[in-house]
Amino acid sequence: MANSFWLSEESPSLPVRRIEGRPDVAVIGGGVTGCACALVLAEAGLDVRVHEAREVASGASGRNGGFALWGGAMPYDIARRQLGPERARDLWLLTDRYVDRMESLAGDAFRRVGSLRVAADPEEREEIRAEYETLRADGFEAEWLDELPRPLEGRFHGGMRHPGDGSIHPARWVRRLATRAAEAGAVIRERSRVESLDELDAAHVVIATDGYTQGLVPALDAAIQPTRGQVLATEPLSEVLFPCPVYARHGYDYWQQTPDRRLVIGGRRDKTPDLEHTPVEETTALVQRELDSFVRELLGELPPVAQRWSGIFGTTEDRLPLVGRVPGRDGLWVGAGYSGHGNVMGLACGELVANAILGDPASELELFDPARFL
Ligand SMILES: Cc1cc2nc3c(=O)[nH]c(=O)nc-3n(C[C@H](O)[C@H](O)[C@H](O)COP(=O)(O)OP(=O)(O)OC[C@H]3O[C@@H](n4cnc5c(N)ncnc54)[C@H](O)[C@@H]3O)c2cc1C
Repeated sequence: MANSFWLSEESPSLPVRRIEGRPDVAVIGGGVTGCACALVLAEAGLDVRVHEAREVASGASGRNGGFALWGGAMPYDIARRQLGPERARDLWLLTDRYVDRMESLAGDAFRRVGSLRVAADPEEREEIRAEYETLRADGFEAEWLDELPRPLEGRFHGGMRHPGDGSIHPARWVRRLATRAAEAGAVIRERSRVESLDELDAAHVVIATDGYTQGLVPALDAAIQPTRGQVLATEPLSEVLFPCPVYARHGYDYWQQTPDRRLVIGGRRDKTPDLEHTPVEETTALVQRELDSFVRELLGELPPVAQRWSGIFGTTEDRLPLVGRVPGRDGLWVGAGYSGHGNVMGLACGELVANAILGDPASELELFDPARFL
């Protein structure tokens, strides 16, 4: 269980808080969703206790590719077909607001550098073009690129730039969010695995465990499929080749460079899709070899690799998360199942759940209603 490059940064110690007696809200999971939820609730004056089985950001929130993207897990034109024009637009507008919110909270853990979706072949170029045209028709910013900058030039068939997207240092960002929540009064209890909901005595319980959701509510286990993603980080390169996050092959390949010029690259899950539908957080020789050869294709050589790691995210059948009340049990809530796209959505959905508990449910919650699966 190797640690990610992001988690290797020293973690600040959290302010210590206590709650005497029964909290108003118990949150299970100390990733972006749980910490975002706790911050809003604590700021509203509620007693909140977050239970995290390992440490803050030790799940997908500290192990991901560091892309902070607008939108859902599917391209905009597909979302429009799947959800209808209004609901797709609302979803994109929600994430637009939440990239801004992330920027306002994250400090130097966030950089507004945009992102590039590039085409691995002519067919993908047509698909990206369709997304680009749909985005533009609905008034969203996007730029079409026939010519790509070096070293993408020649290897990829054009692409689209999203100027509104960003890059994050995900562990630093979520640890910062946890610190803010604790400063607002939340108790963050690390190394505190919840084995059963019965052990929690709180008016509300929020399940914020994304791909690590297992063993608490059988219906959630059935609706949220654990999916493994694998990543590697090189030692610093001599120059900046990728100033913003880049993804290709429908997100099966993704990479970016850190401010100290390391290449962080992940994906290739489609090479052994059955093996990657697993909650087991370990790397495999096959996918890591695939990542190595992809680095060679991009750079012409394989620089020294500093870290290799994996993380688990939760996938749902319609690639939308389950956010809101869990039917059949009073006071039980969930925010999980972002289908590999949870950095911005996790922040948004953690806050949506908190606001619903505070009596102010947003209209977007209808889109994510857990009842559609449970
Ligand atoms: C390799 C990889 C790359 C990714 N790349 C991107 C990307 O570039 N952009 C993007 O938007 N998304 C990406 N994602 C998805 C994104 O990381 C997740 O959707 C997001 O981090 C989910 O956050 P979360 O807080 O909901 O869950 P997590 O961060 O997974 O946190 C859940 C926490 O719950 C804890 N937990 C579980 N069960 C219990 C229990 N019983 N008791 C107590 N605690 C428990 C776990 O220890 C864990 O810390 C990626 C995911 C992976 C794995």
